[in-house]
Amino acid sequence: KSSGLPGGLNSDNGGMVDAKNLRVKLVLLGDSGVGKSCIVLRFVRGQFDPTSKVTVGASFLSQTVALQDSTTVKFEIWDTAGQERYAALAPLYYRGAAVAVVVYDITSPESFTKAQYWVKELQKHGSPDIVMALVGNKADLQEKREVTVQDGIDYAEKNGMFFIETSAKTADNVNQLFEEIAKRLPRPSPS
Ligand code: GDP
Repeated sequence: KSSGLPGGLNSDNGGMVDAKNLRVKLVLLGDSGVGKSCIVLRFVRGQFDPTSKVTVGASFLSQTVALQDSTTVKFEIWDTAGQERYAALAPLYYRGAAVAVVVYDITSPESFTKAQYWVKELQKHGSPDIVMALVGNKADLQEKREVTVQDGIDYAEKNGMFFIETSAKTADNVNQLFEEIAKRLPRPSPS
């Protein structure tokens, strides 16, 4: 299980500070407009502010999650900021990512199809031990729902992913998403 490097340092995994404190690169993927930036801003700043998004270049924010067992995970969150259109971005973007969060919009079947494309891309180009989460966002728009909860569950299960539905607007399940990812990260055995 050990990376073979001193102190459990594992640069392929975005870096490990020590056995109790991890630092990981997390990449966001999904169709434009599904709410990736809003999820991050909700998680990092506790706000729903669709106007403050970055429009050029990949944006970067970080936030630490403290778990019950007194370990911490610092997420370094990479948002495509609209660059999902450019396939050439992919290899650099995925490199060193320990976590990938693939987002769709529950009111958009097209975005669910696109999410499946990103999962395949990750399976091809991502790290083999990457932790993947499938996120159905805009769960507050129940009356406009076009992707069922079961569709999300089934696809995630088939692909070894963690699944959750969120609303960046109401904050529903946003912190839970990151906490559940934090719990699922492979940890070095304390030496
Ligand atoms: P991105 O392109 O994936 O980063 O998407 P944005 O974060 O820019 O969000 C796109 C649009 O969806 C914005 O107009 C947001 O107001 C809206 N949005 C994002 N999350 C939610 C949500 O959970 N519920 C609702 N109703 N709208 C959302």
